[in-house]
Amino acid sequence: MDRPTMRPVFVNIGERTNVTGSAKFKKLIIDGLYPEALSVARQQVEAGAQVIDVNMDEGLLDSQQAMVTFLNLMAAEPDIARVPVMIDSSKWEVIEAGLKCVQGKAIVNSISMKEGEEKFLEQAKLCLRYGAAVVVMAFDEVGQADTEARKVEICERAYNTLVDKVGFPPEDIIFDPNIFAVATGIEEHDNYAVDFIEATRRIKQMLPYARVSGGVSNVSFSFRGNEPVRRAIHSVFLYHAINAGMDMGIVNAGDLPVYDDIDPVLREAVEDVILNRPQRDPVQTNTERLVDMAPRYKGEKGAAQQVNLAWRDGTVGERITHALVNGVTEFIEADTEEARLAAERPLHVIEGPLMDGMNVVGDLFGAGKMFLPQVVKSARVMKQAVAWLMPFMEAEKEGQVRKAAGKVLMATVKGDVHDIGKNIVGVVLQCNNYEVVDLGVMVPADRILEEARKHQVDMIGLSGLITPSLDEMVFVAAEMERQGFDIPLLIGGATTSRTHTAVKIEPAYRRGPTTYVVDASRAVGVVSGLLSEGERDRIIGETRAEYVKVREQYARGQTTKARASIGQARQRAFDIDWSGYVPPKPAFIGTRTFEPSLAELEPFIDWSPFFASWELVGRYPQILEDDIVGQAATDLYRDARAMLDKVIAEKWFGAKGVIGFWPAQAQGDDIVLYTDETRTAEYSRFHTLRQQMDKGEGKTNVALSDFVAPIGEGADYVGGFAVTAGHGEDEIVKTFKDAGDDYSAIMASALADRLAEAFAEWLHYKARVELWGYAPDEAADTEVMIAEKYQGIRPAPGYPAQPDHTEKGTLFKLLDAEAATGLKLTESYAMTPGAAVSGLYFSHPRAHYFGVGKIDADQVEDYARRKGWDVATAERWLSPILNYDPAARSRDAAA
Ligand code: SAH
Repeated sequence: MDRPTMRPVFVNIGERTNVTGSAKFKKLIIDGLYPEALSVARQQVEAGAQVIDVNMDEGLLDSQQAMVTFLNLMAAEPDIARVPVMIDSSKWEVIEAGLKCVQGKAIVNSISMKEGEEKFLEQAKLCLRYGAAVVVMAFDEVGQADTEARKVEICERAYNTLVDKVGFPPEDIIFDPNIFAVATGIEEHDNYAVDFIEATRRIKQMLPYARVSGGVSNVSFSFRGNEPVRRAIHSVFLYHAINAGMDMGIVNAGDLPVYDDIDPVLREAVEDVILNRPQRDPVQTNTERLVDMAPRYKGEKGAAQQVNLAWRDGTVGERITHALVNGVTEFIEADTEEARLAAERPLHVIEGPLMDGMNVVGDLFGAGKMFLPQVVKSARVMKQAVAWLMPFMEAEKEGQVRKAAGKVLMATVKGDVHDIGKNIVGVVLQCNNYEVVDLGVMVPADRILEEARKHQVDMIGLSGLITPSLDEMVFVAAEMERQGFDIPLLIGGATTSRTHTAVKIEPAYRRGPTTYVVDASRAVGVVSGLLSEGERDRIIGETRAEYVKVREQYARGQTTKARASIGQARQRAFDIDWSGYVPPKPAFIGTRTFEPSLAELEPFIDWSPFFASWELVGRYPQILEDDIVGQAATDLYRDARAMLDKVIAEKWFGAKGVIGFWPAQAQGDDIVLYTDETRTAEYSRFHTLRQQMDKGEGKTNVALSDFVAPIGEGADYVGGFAVTAGHGEDEIVKTFKDAGDDYSAIMASALADRLAEAFAEWLHYKARVELWGYAPDEAADTEVMIAEKYQGIRPAPGYPAQPDHTEKGTLFKLLDAEAATGLKLTESYAMTPGAAVSGLYFSHPRAHYFGVGKIDADQVEDYARRKGWDVATAERWLSPILNYDPAARSRDAAA
């Protein structure tokens, strides 16, 4: 996905086999290490170079001899020799020596009228005799052409001279109209890129069959040391020059970002400089603006590229480690191949240099010097290397021999769909040489245990996002006990906790150890500890002892907290004064669907939770500057923006949503919905739960129904919504995973989630200003929205203000959400696709979010009656908020 996709008509000329441009290549040639130097040429071809530029112009070298030696060696390598050579020298003897030994058609780089027409014609005739094409520099007796006019003038004269006087075939003429550096701070240089681009356009129009080329890296020369910005400049420059007709260019093949992938802010600033556009900023020139902005883009990749020359000089092991630590995929196949050729068996490359590198990653991660997104990127490099070795291992039939440190089964439990955290854990474990059997989402207990037996795994990891999954995990644990398992059980995911694990799960599974894993960064430590012969028993003992304490603590907490009875709590309901209050009336009653474009949603994205999903803690945008995680966050954000641009442009995800408004009045803790304004026929009913904690004198016990005018007061309304941006997500994620690119797979999921949340924000805004219309003048200010500083709330069933997920069923029915959006509810009332948000709307200015907290048996019984459930069903759905142990209660009842 990251490979540059230049248009096929444009010819990449590989530049790295140039002693004046590559310190590494120069060193190899001076040291006489020709085989290694050849691998530079091979890398260029593999990275997409269609011509190789070879330059040996170096004072310490016998350039002529070096040129001949290298060209002869290249000719013997079929995979390199398949592309033409550009013989590059300012010395004619070197060129001629080169021409003599090249087979096939060569390109001479370059000749010019610098020393007059006579010499120029003489050299052109020789080229003609060798059948070579020529690069003609826009250079004459007066000097090098800098302006558009001079470039065109010289090229036209050279063309006429060549074609008319020596009969040079025009299709073998390649003009190099001189690419000069822009953004140097010297005003006269500001138009250099435009001069080149416009000259190219005219040359292509005026001089039939002639081609235009250039040395691209010159244009960004003033940003030496900041490779990411240089690459962006090259890409933008080429985009415009190619549009003007540029046919080929000397570039670092394989190292150009796709124009569309460049961060839009950077791209605009670069474009202003390249196209010498009018100054955008009131004070700063375009150059100053880009110079100011540049350091922000000099990220990890930049650092890697910047020391590029240095790290490529290391041993193959050092290079592999560097690539793994920095997540650089560009060279990993070449390096892995080099290591393979040096190793006795391909497996040894994995067990040797690759594992050594991953150990460095593990150490840095353990020391808090690397963060999850970077580790996931390392995994991508590792997978690519292993994929390269696979065919060789299969050829040796030793594919199976690689011994994993252990085997872990992972699954998101039945009824639940979220798996970003689980996927990150899986990747991190794989990086550490654990084999992971990932069963995906919505996996029933039976299947988990069946696969565990089949694969003979060493441990099982369960993940869950929503509260009903807690019970499902208890069920899996009990099944493990019943079926006689004794392997460790790991518990993780947003809804899980140490307390729940200790209080509910561990007691259900006594044969084996149960451990709560607080976040992905702990997973490796926990797994390796549980699998280590020496430490296993001690760790298990400690965890068991710890959980005993947690249970004791929990039991104490249970008995000491005073609760109000549900009757008392209702007496203290939230005190909105309804007299004289006129509730706002929505623009329509019933439902309406929306399919906004992703581009419309993008400005509503709240980025802070995005970083949290990668376990980088902090608020956006400050997190980008954070002392500790700032660099990792900045790199992650850049990757995310680049992918988001593609997501939007290529419509990776489909967004669908539905909104509804209904006449409504509160009736006790219920909200009654009516079919129409007569408010006579009950249409549906939301059930809400009331706080029972004793907050002290003058405090209220809130339920959501308190935010709606009771029967007999003003005619009120409630709204509801369900939105998703997840259509198509699964397919995209699968494509990335199949390609071994978990980093992009996780990134795509995280972005789909962000867009779904943005959709909820977008729709809520639309509701306030237009559809419900009670805040018509509210400005669309993302910061205000993210802080939820507007009037009205959108509580989601399953969240603290209404912990009962089944209310989502009522909401979905009212909205006919499945037909309208394609969203479905699982048996645990999780929405699928997972990138989805749903909730109710309340408009009252005093409506606010709160937590119901723990509730007592009296309210559970009351709620069961209202819902038409038996008490056991109510206890099941409300289990996370019960203030008592239902098992103990039913024992009491039986006694
Ligand atoms: N900007 C965030 C929004 C999600 S969290 C993001 O992009 O991820 C805030 C949302 O969670 C609220 O809009 C509401 O729908 C829900 N929420 C938060 N607290 C809640 C509570 N106490 N009860 C019910 N829903 C709540």
